[in-house]
Amino acid sequence: MSLKPHHLDNVLFTPEKIQSRIDGLVDEISGGEKSDNLVMIGILRGSFMFLADLVRDLNAHDVHPRIDFITLESYYGGTESVGKVEIRKDIEVDVTGADVLLIDDILDTGRTLQFAVQHLTDKGARSIKTCTLLDKPARRIVDIEADHVGFAIDDVFVVGYGLDYDSYYRELPFIAEVTFI
Ligand code: 5GP
Ligand code: MG
Repeated sequence: MSLKPHHLDNVLFTPEKIQSRIDGLVDEISGGEKSDNLVMIGILRGSFMFLADLVRDLNAHDVHPRIDFITLESYYGGTESVGKVEIRKDIEVDVTGADVLLIDDILDTGRTLQFAVQHLTDKGARSIKTCTLLDKPARRIVDIEADHVGFAIDDVFVVGYGLDYDSYYRELPFIAEVTFI
């Protein structure tokens, strides 16, 4: 039984489409300058599935990063950013002198990614690159672009492949639009 007051409408990205774009992103990432100290940091919780698929593909390209996660919060269960980003759980790897690749599910207002870049800079990373699966350029408030973007989308609310609504839908292997009723 479902008590969820919304419908999953339009599937925007099938599992096949996501996988083929990930192949392209991995070519981009592994085609750049090779680092001897690469650390991939996923922003939880939305990036868990994306990061898992990325690192398995990267392994086939002989890229062997250290991996950690940071839990950042700016949404508090709703769909509108309140504008303030907080650390719920910090990374534990030492990124001093490391080349960091930050992974997020979606770039929306840009506040989360901007906060994360500043935080990793403060921790002494040597370089920081960013990679987001989705990008909503129309929603940007902060002046930031990701170095690697999977797909640009319109201003719609999406779930699946790690992205949630109220902690539901993260397990879906596809990405769909939610209609609130
Ligand atoms: P920003 O700080 O860029 O405004 O927000 C980034 C975060 O907002 C993402 O990591 C994600 O958690 C959340 N977010 C933004 N747009 C969507 C969306 O369409 N669906 C879901 N599920 N989360 C979103
Ligand atoms: Mg998120």
